[in-house]
Order: sequence, then C-alpha cells, then structure tokens
Amino acid sequence: MSPKHLEEMYDAVIVGAGAAGLSAALGLLRSPAMAELKANGTEPKVLVISKLQPLRSHTGSAEGGIAASLGNAEADDWRWHYYDTVKGGDWLVDQDAAKLLAQYAPETVVNLERQGVAFSRLDDGHIAQRRFGGHTRDYGKEPVKRAAYAADRIGHQILHTLWQQCVALGVRFAEEWYVTDLVLEDGADGADRRVAGVVALDTHSGQVKAVRARHVLLATGGAGRLFHTTSNSWDLTGDGMALALAAGLQLEDVEFVQFHPTGLAHTGILLSEAARAEGGVLRNKDGEAFMERYAPGHADLAARDVVSRSIMAEVDAGRGVADPKDPDGPRDCVWLDMTGIPAERMEGTLPQVVETIRAYADLDPAKDLVPVKPTAHYTMGGIPVDTDGAVYQWRDGARHTVEGLFAAGECSCVSVHGANRLGGNSLLDACLFGTRAGRAIAARIAEAPVAGEPDPTSADAVDQASRARGEQLAQLLAGADGANGAMDDNPYALMARLGGVMERAAAVRCDAASLAAALEELRGDLEPRAEVLRAHEGTAALNQEVTAIWEVRHLVELGEAVLVASDARHESRGSLKRTDFPERDDERFLAHSMTDASGAVSWQPVHIEDYPPQAREY
Ligand SMILES: Cc1cc2nc3c(=O)[nH]c(=O)nc-3n(C[C@H](O)[C@H](O)[C@H](O)COP(=O)(O)OP(=O)(O)OC[C@H]3O[C@@H](n4cnc5c(N)ncnc54)[C@H](O)[C@@H]3O)c2cc1C
Repeated sequence: MSPKHLEEMYDAVIVGAGAAGLSAALGLLRSPAMAELKANGTEPKVLVISKLQPLRSHTGSAEGGIAASLGNAEADDWRWHYYDTVKGGDWLVDQDAAKLLAQYAPETVVNLERQGVAFSRLDDGHIAQRRFGGHTRDYGKEPVKRAAYAADRIGHQILHTLWQQCVALGVRFAEEWYVTDLVLEDGADGADRRVAGVVALDTHSGQVKAVRARHVLLATGGAGRLFHTTSNSWDLTGDGMALALAAGLQLEDVEFVQFHPTGLAHTGILLSEAARAEGGVLRNKDGEAFMERYAPGHADLAARDVVSRSIMAEVDAGRGVADPKDPDGPRDCVWLDMTGIPAERMEGTLPQVVETIRAYADLDPAKDLVPVKPTAHYTMGGIPVDTDGAVYQWRDGARHTVEGLFAAGECSCVSVHGANRLGGNSLLDACLFGTRAGRAIAARIAEAPVAGEPDPTSADAVDQASRARGEQLAQLLAGADGANGAMDDNPYALMARLGGVMERAAAVRCDAASLAAALEELRGDLEPRAEVLRAHEGTAALNQEVTAIWEVRHLVELGEAVLVASDARHESRGSLKRTDFPERDDERFLAHSMTDASGAVSWQPVHIEDYPPQAREY
C-alpha cells in the first residue's frame, strides 16, 4: 500500500532547472527515441524539480558569453578551441570530452539561436563574438573573438529561452521543492548500485515527498557559497554534490575552485570578463597595468587563475588598494580601469557591469577607478560523468556506472574544464552535455518502456528514506523542545563562519597547514554545530530556515571533501596553488582526484588523446 505522500513512478526526474536541467529536459523530450515512443502511444513521465522558481536559477546571471568557433568576427577553428580548453585546464582535461565540447559548440549556439536566444549581432547580421581570456587562434598565437554574446546578459537570454521551450512542450515542474536525498539501492545480481529515486520537501506545503524514478539527473549547479567572497547566488550550496557524497558516491577534482579575478569589492558580485575584453585594464596602487608583467602578450586576458594569482601577488607586495567605501580597511583590492572604453560603447556592450558598479559602489566607471578582488566563481570538479552524462565511480582501476543516475552542468565533472575553466565554456558545457544526457536517458527509456509501472523494490528504498527524512523534519521543527536543540545558533551564522574559514584556508592559494587548520574547524566545530541546529519556527510550510539548515549541512560536508582533496594533491595546477608544492607534477598528479565522504582519495588517469602536456608559459 502506498503512503499518501508517495509520488507516482517517473521515467525521469531532473533535479535543477538552470541551463543544464532545462537542456536535459528538452534533449530528452525532443529526441528521436521519444518521438517514436509517443507515436506508439506511450507518454513518458518526466518531472523537473527545482528548489527555485526556474527563472531564478543562477544561469540567468551569466553575463559575458558562450564560447563557439563560429568564426563570425575572426577566422576560428574548433581545433583551436579544443586546444585552448585543454591548455586552459592545465592538462587535467579529459580530451575526449573537450573535443566534443569544441566540435559541437557551433551547433549548440546555433540551436540556441533557433530556439529564441537574442544574440547581439555584427553589422552583417551574424551572431557577434567577443574576446575572452585564454581563447586564441592558431594554437595560442593570439587572442580570438570566440564568445557569442547578448550584451552582457547571455545567461538571462538562455535561461528564459530554454524555460519557454519547456513550457511550450508541457514539461511538468515541481517548483520550490527541495531535494534532500538521493536514493540508491543495490543492483540486481550483485551488480553496481542503481538509482531508486529522490526525496524532496515541497516547501509550499511542508510535506516530504517520496519520488520514485527509473532515471535521475542531477543538475543542481555550483557551490560558490563555500566561500565568503563569491559571485554565486545564495542558492549555490552544492546540494547535488553533497547528495552524491551522502549516497556514498565519489566526487571528482573538487579541489579546483575558480576564483574570478574581478569581483566588486567587497560584495563579490561579478564584473564580467567582458569588461576587460572591451578594454578595461587592471592597475595597482601606482597605476601600473601590472598584468603585462605577469602574462606578456595576454596581459589582462590571461587565464583566470593566472590573473587572480597576479592580483594576490600585487596585494602581497603592498601594491594593493583599499575599497574607497572603506578607506581605512584592508588594501586587498586592485583597480579595474574602464575609463579608456568609449562611453557609448560601454553603455551598449556592458550595461550590466555599469549598472552594478553604479548601484553597489556608487562609482562611475567612465571616470572612476573601480576596486576589485578575486571572487569564488566556479566549481570545476563535481559528480563524475561520462560524455553521455552517466554517473560513474572509480574502483579497481575502472569506471563503474551507477545504473540510472545522470548529472550535468556545474555540479558534474565530465572534465572539460580540468584544473581551470575558460570563460564561456560552462554555459556551453551545461547546454551541450545537458542535452546529451537528456538524449541518453530517452534512449534508455525507449529500450524498456514501462512508464508508470511501480517497482515494488524501489518503492521500499525511497519510502524508507522519505520516512527517515520526515522524522528528521519533525525533530528540526520541535525547536527548543527537541533533544539537544541549539536555539542560540542558526544556519546563516554557520554559513558565514564556514565562508570565512574556507576563504582563509583555500581561496586562490593554500598549504598543508592552512588546510589542516580549516579541516579541524569544520570537523571539530562547524559539523557538530550544524548537526544540532533547530528551526526557530515550528511550521513546515514556507519555512526557509529548514532548507537553510540542510543547505549548510551540505556545504560543510562538501567543504570537507574540498579540503581533503586539496590536501591530497601535492602540486600546483590551474586554480589550485599549493605554496608548499609550487610546481606542477605530471609524473604523480596528471590524474583526477576521486574523493568520497569517508575522506578516501583515489586517482583516475586523465584521458590524453591529441595534446600531451606542455609547460604553461603564462
Ligand atoms: C555571475 C556569474 C556569471 C557567469 N557568467 C558566465 C558566462 O558569461 N559564460 C559562461 O559560460 N558561464 C558563466 N557563468 C557560469 C555559468 O552561468 C554556470 O556554470 C551555469 O549557468 C550553471 O548552470 P547549471 O544548470 O549547472 O546550474 P544553475 O543555473 O545554477 O541551476 C541550478 C538549479 O538547481 C536547482 N537546485 C539546486 N539544489 C537543489 C535541490 N536541493 N533541490 C532542488 N533543486 C535544486 C536550482 O533551483 C536551480 O534550478 C557565470 C556564473 C556566474 C555566477
């Protein structure tokens, strides 16, 4: 007998409604396999669950562009894009995946345009393209205009377009449901584990839902909230990655977190790389355009890790500046000088950047210098997936697929970004590999169409998990009356503390001592405090503190994995700068770290196909 809160059986449940989740839904429903199924009268049951109303997903904040070698503004070639991606990722990139990324980028962008994305245009009507750090022509010779853009609001365009397409297709959304558990069960005949479904809190009603599914795709975005200074929105608490850890799965390369060089001081809000692509220059307190010294030839448009580290080096050398809003505060910023960009061009191509600077810093970029500092921006690592989005585990020197489980977008790691992502490559990753994962799920559904048929075994596993979660919810809501209720603590204070600890220990650079100290704080203080948090209000419906408690628990769990993986990698590569191991070490660490919740780290070799590792000269 099904309990009341047990949802029906879904063929596919997609968790997340950003570029990756929506692309997956469209890829699934529009695939030829689905058309055939529908023609035979079978309607697959698909549900997209999102903790936010879909249009509030972080994808909507993406500013600068999406990379593709369309060659509209200058000659370009997908092989150059492929090479730049591998090199930008400091050779930790799986080259089979990066090759697909570059090869299918033009098709992905054209498809977005056909669906309704209003790209900026060249005078001849073609999609306009701009320069972005690390994108070059002819294998590193000189910068190339590769990022297709829509003023500085590309993400807004993409998110709205994909969502409208989903609405037109009748995709079913469970909006403002918060997924709390990924439920796996043992596969048949001792095979590897397979997915059974998810548990979610419907935040409107306060009910816990048991959602059984034959296929689950996680597309929950990044985890910038691990750090105090971040460009990420409040929702990016790494839920999907933490759900995977809690389900006993490994994460790949989680030590690689990209710090974007130009966060507006001291808010962390992103000022797009487009500001430098359009002519903005970084200057130290003496007015020197210092990037030419660190990265001759590439200067302000060198790869992001290089620029972030150069800023920190200037600050360490005493050439930083204070935020004019806090003149006596720390001199931990440098200037972004946009005064050389013609005013009309600035308003036309960088409206978002200009508006942000005016609104949050009370400065006019046409005549004022703007204080900036590196801000946590992107998680390169995540849930390990193959190029069809299937989640796997690394064991005994081989990949073992978790039956029915998929992931895409920023929460996943197909390893196209390696140790450092190039600008414009993540929207591309989310759209392309999201679509591919959707199609792969469709093909599997078509192979064995049993839509709507409940599977009694999986019902047990999901039902059990949902009951346990329901009990935990009741305990959270019991407040001071509940056992060990910590009513003087709250999740927001813990999140702020965690952000500070992680920032001190691991932002832009780290060493064994900083990592060990942070791990001790997480394990000794933050984790036990997070465990006993209780909600201050006893109702389940629309109680945001409940989800915040689960989010901070997720962040702490993920933070531990990030610190453990950073500690295990005794080298510096891409975004990870170990001051105690300053060199890249290809002999030992040309490998992906695979970290689980127990703190065990194993190493998976990198797929090298066309480009053997070279020294990185900038
Ligand atoms: C300010 C900013 C600017 C950027 N600019 C660019 C750019 O110019 N070019 C580029 O290529 N990339 C850019 N990026 C990166 C890029 O936008 C993201 O990597 C990409 O949009 C991620 O898409 P996603 O679908 O994986 O995740 P998101 O868009 O973050 O969506 C995550 C989804 O998961 C849902 N979710 C999360 N947890 C749960 C849960 N527990 N239960 C239910 N639902 C859940 C959320 O509701 C949301 O719908 C930028 C990022 C930022 C922050």
